[in-house]
Amino acid sequence: MNLYNIKHPEEQVNFAQAVRQGLGKDQGLFFPQQIPQLTHIEDLLALPLVERSQKILAALIGEEIPTDRLNAMVKNAFTFPAPLAQVSDNIFALELFHGPTLAFKDFGGRFMAQALAAVRGDGKITILTATSGDTGAAVAHAFYGLENINVVILYPKGKISPLQEKLFCTLGGNIRTVAIEADFDACQALVKQAFDDAELRDAIGLNSANSINISRLLAQVCYYFEAVAQLPADKRQEVVVSVPSGNFGNLTAGLIAKTLGLPIKRFIASTNANDTVPRYLRSGEWSPNATVATLSNAMDVSRPNNWPRVEELFKRNGWALSELGSGALNDAETETALKAQYAEGYLCEPHGSIAYQLLHDQLQSGETGIFLCTAHPAKFKESVERILEIELPLPEALGKHNKLPLLSEVMANDFSQLKAYLLK
Ligand SMILES: *Cc1c(COP(=O)(O)O)cnc(C)c1O
Repeated sequence: MNLYNIKHPEEQVNFAQAVRQGLGKDQGLFFPQQIPQLTHIEDLLALPLVERSQKILAALIGEEIPTDRLNAMVKNAFTFPAPLAQVSDNIFALELFHGPTLAFKDFGGRFMAQALAAVRGDGKITILTATSGDTGAAVAHAFYGLENINVVILYPKGKISPLQEKLFCTLGGNIRTVAIEADFDACQALVKQAFDDAELRDAIGLNSANSINISRLLAQVCYYFEAVAQLPADKRQEVVVSVPSGNFGNLTAGLIAKTLGLPIKRFIASTNANDTVPRYLRSGEWSPNATVATLSNAMDVSRPNNWPRVEELFKRNGWALSELGSGALNDAETETALKAQYAEGYLCEPHGSIAYQLLHDQLQSGETGIFLCTAHPAKFKESVERILEIELPLPEALGKHNKLPLLSEVMANDFSQLKAYLLK
């Protein structure tokens, strides 16, 4: 697989380099030079998730990773299903939250971990990341148990929910967690300082495993095929997919699936009040506002860093950006949507509800709609319980960790201490 840096097309790398490096020069995003056109889509759709995903990823990545190895990576990463639930006559929910940390990021995160393990070479690798909660859990679970990869996760002591802390600070093994006596920004600053320290970087093979790694997107392509595969045959003709969007990685993956030949008529980019993209699509002006906090906080992003990849795909495919649907809901509208869904018999959470409502409003007759459910309702327990006036049981995945002791170290906000700890 050959990729280029969107900002500096002369910088070209293979899959292994793109996975190891994450970003190109000037923070440019890597993008595949070619996306093949798959044939026999119907046959592909008839396969089970893992087998089909092995074929899709082999077509994308090519011969760089031997087939047996790639097959094992997919099998190890995709250990949970992505069921499609019918919500109304022509609207379906793709549930992407059945993984270990109950959010769709498990798909991309787990495959990225497998990919990094496959292309790491001989050197040591230390994944260092700061988290305000969710990403830490996804990274920890994705890398847990992988040989020769150490993971260190920093988080602000006392500033993440106790349940979140239990989810990733109880694993042990190759996962080390450090509660820093400061806020999240300080944790991020410590990570940055570590990456700026060339001696440390080389000594322990620092890697950020960041969210724009191309391997994540490739993995996410697979569940769009899984969604269409589960639709009744008579509903596959005019499929519209609504994607709750923050950094727009998820939408990029959907567009790659369409480029591969998956029959999707159009997409809807659904956001909360952080609506840079819907405003841009209406006015042609890119003018991010200050980020505001919302109920759907994983989408509180006003400068979505995957947007250049979306534009690149539209340009290369000769699609007009005006064909991309979009919309934004504020918190009050999100609450109304969550209640409406619940009244229809489907329990959701704020991110999925936004995607549902915009799909519901924009779907035309004869079309079939799919919205992505990016998180388990229990991940947003407090808002869901308050809005719906119900009580949610703790899902088993969370309950299990809740009983285990915390293994985190506590550390002052002091780089020299962190450095000594990392070198130990
Ligand atoms: C990360 C996240 C999103 C946004 O996905 P992007 O790929 O960044 O657009 C939506 N919902 C949930 C629950 C998330 O965790």
